[in-house]
Amino acid sequence: MNAFQQARFISSVVRAEDLPPAAGRELVFAGRSNVGKSSAINALANRRRLAFASRTPGRTRSINFFELGGGARLVDLPGYGYAAAPRALRATWEPLITGFLAARRRFAGIVLLTDARRPLVQSDRQFLAWLAPVDAPRLVLLSKADKLSRVEQAQALAHSRAALAKERIEATALLFSSKQEETVAEARALLEQWLAERRA
Ligand code: GDP
Repeated sequence: MNAFQQARFISSVVRAEDLPPAAGRELVFAGRSNVGKSSAINALANRRRLAFASRTPGRTRSINFFELGGGARLVDLPGYGYAAAPRALRATWEPLITGFLAARRRFAGIVLLTDARRPLVQSDRQFLAWLAPVDAPRLVLLSKADKLSRVEQAQALAHSRAALAKERIEATALLFSSKQEETVAEARALLEQWLAERRA
């Protein structure tokens, strides 16, 4: 169905009261700042500046909404893990995310990007635990996998799958690099499948 090819930026929201109501099937993207989330969204949509286009100064703490084909949406959550400003982060990030999640009980999918060189650090696991009540299939992408050797990639994948099993989090874990089209295609195919399944 190729929903990603039709991706179009809709809006950037910074205040919980400005959040649009849930409509259609939504794929949520999350991850620590600098993990490669914008690059991943661009790669999945096969566009150079889709996610960066919404990233004007002051908007890095916003939720960015994109329309996909067929009435689906991609929701880009603000990057978390600014160790330098935990209180400021909680003050701006939490009400926005909490407001977003409060209005939604299910998603077509939750995509968590985590750095393949140090996958599923505490803030990632906290985020997944926080989302535990939400009904959605989960995809953990081990980003920047191109920076690892084949052996290291296999270790990162095994480590991540073991960590998810230990925390009793049901999720698919895949190696991902926005620079390696075969990994992008694999993630895209799975997400397109989830969107198709949630059409009913
Ligand atoms: P975001 O803050 O999570 O949206 O991260 P960005 O997409 O802006 O990427 C952060 C940095 O990581 C940038 O310098 C990117 O060029 C780099 N980066 C992103 N994805 C990859 C990847 O798959 N491989 C490599 N080697 N670098 C990447």
